[in-house]
Amino acid sequence: MSNSTKYVFVTGGVTSSLGKGIISASLAKLLQARGYSTTIQKLDPYINVDPGTLNPYEHGECFVTDDGAETDLDLGHYERFLNVPTSQANNVTTGRIYQSVIEKERRGEFLGKTVQVIPHITNEIKERIQILGNKGDYDIVITEIGGTVGDIESLPYVEAVRQMKWEFDEDCIVVHLTLVPYLAAAGELKTKPTQHSVKQLLELGVQPDILCCRTEHELDLNLRRKIAKFCNVNMNAVIESRDAESIYDVPLLMQEEELDKVVLEKLSLPTKSTPNLNTWKEFLTNLKNPESEVTIGLVGKYVELKDSYKSISESLIHAGVTNKTKVNVRWIHSEKVTKDNIEKELEGLDGILVAPGFGSRGISGKIEAVRFARVNRVPFLGICLGMQCAVIEYARNVLGLTEAHTTEIVDSCKDPVIDIMAAQKEISEMGGTMRLGAYECQLTPGSNVSEAYNTDSISERHRHRYEFNNEYLEQYESNGMKATGKNPETGLVEVVEVEDHPWFVGAQFHPEYKSTVAEPHPLFSGFINAVLKNR
Ligand code: GLN
Repeated sequence: MSNSTKYVFVTGGVTSSLGKGIISASLAKLLQARGYSTTIQKLDPYINVDPGTLNPYEHGECFVTDDGAETDLDLGHYERFLNVPTSQANNVTTGRIYQSVIEKERRGEFLGKTVQVIPHITNEIKERIQILGNKGDYDIVITEIGGTVGDIESLPYVEAVRQMKWEFDEDCIVVHLTLVPYLAAAGELKTKPTQHSVKQLLELGVQPDILCCRTEHELDLNLRRKIAKFCNVNMNAVIESRDAESIYDVPLLMQEEELDKVVLEKLSLPTKSTPNLNTWKEFLTNLKNPESEVTIGLVGKYVELKDSYKSISESLIHAGVTNKTKVNVRWIHSEKVTKDNIEKELEGLDGILVAPGFGSRGISGKIEAVRFARVNRVPFLGICLGMQCAVIEYARNVLGLTEAHTTEIVDSCKDPVIDIMAAQKEISEMGGTMRLGAYECQLTPGSNVSEAYNTDSISERHRHRYEFNNEYLEQYESNGMKATGKNPETGLVEVVEVEDHPWFVGAQFHPEYKSTVAEPHPLFSGFINAVLKNR
């Protein structure tokens, strides 16, 4: 059976955290640069329907697409590398697969058959993989299988890959990412874990076509030969993936190893032209040769796990490149910030960013950090809950509404300056029910945001239930805090700014989801630019 779309599966062995997401994104970048339209999909073997209900400590940040999917953070890497938006179809979990199969069963679609993992679950997985291919928009679909080969949870996915490889033959290949550890005592790189993990794949009926070997040292010819021999792959299909200084180096390292060429050969596709990665290289040159340096304080309650703020920290890196500046991040735990230690905790910062979040833990520290930034005239960016904290702080300390709060935390507070959205009031289910995805926003000409964006009409992604309470708008605006961004249809306040301040912006949306290497986000760039000007 022949198919116009080609499929590349990326599996992982030996251990988790080998960087399958970055390898997938780098391969996609190289194929895109050769003229192939490419997309990447992540299959997550957990039973949650999506990561929206997961605590960030579990898997890091929840990424949000334009069409409002709450997804794995790897989709953020895909978008940052490819500069092409992903969608609902790009992230599928076991929970979603089972939900869909069980709904079909309830509708009687299986005509009395016993519903089983094989073929019903595996068919559903195969269908989900092909949704992107069948759209006709992509030459190549890269599907990253979450987890590690051998996990009970990933068995149906590996089985689906086995079946697709059989059915689609040369239109499908498997890239297996493994570890080649260095044993200091022996002074050697060891190939055994790789051999074992390939064996495990073979037991499941899948022969990998390409091996990407994560290593801290060079894989010499002897080692490559050994791996090739024991794992039944060609020598040129043993790819070294050395630890890199920056994740943005990885596409170039993979290009040196000719990963893209080997993939195209195996898929019987012409290599076309040499990839044009000039803008990518220019980005890297600027990243590595900054002309100045600034330190931003990132105030949040999940700072022990930096992946919780992945898109924000990457956006700051991108904005640094635009401004030829190295952006250092000082991670500040909002729970540890108090009125008494704030001067010490936030001392010496060039800019302050108060992060998104949910619930009461650490909120008083966030509000204190806003006050510090406002009073000391430190450039400030508040995102989502960070914006809401800015609104609360202004009410309490400027408008004299000392009991102002958000009804998320004090339901019956005297001045609910942040309140639940009307559309949210009747909702009781937690999953996928927030205001999610892209919405239009109209900016006030001449405001800091409209200058940063260099346009007055934008679209940004949302993920929240609460909003600025417009009953207080007049009071804010006549006292120096302006709503400089509004939803044109509903009048919801999306951006606030303090007038008498070098640069103080709170955004209800999440700009971090749209920053890419090709297009660093204007709001982050504007923030870093303001930080530089203010010094
Ligand atoms: N908890 C707030 C809300 O639901 C903010 C959400 C966020 O920061 N993403 O409105």
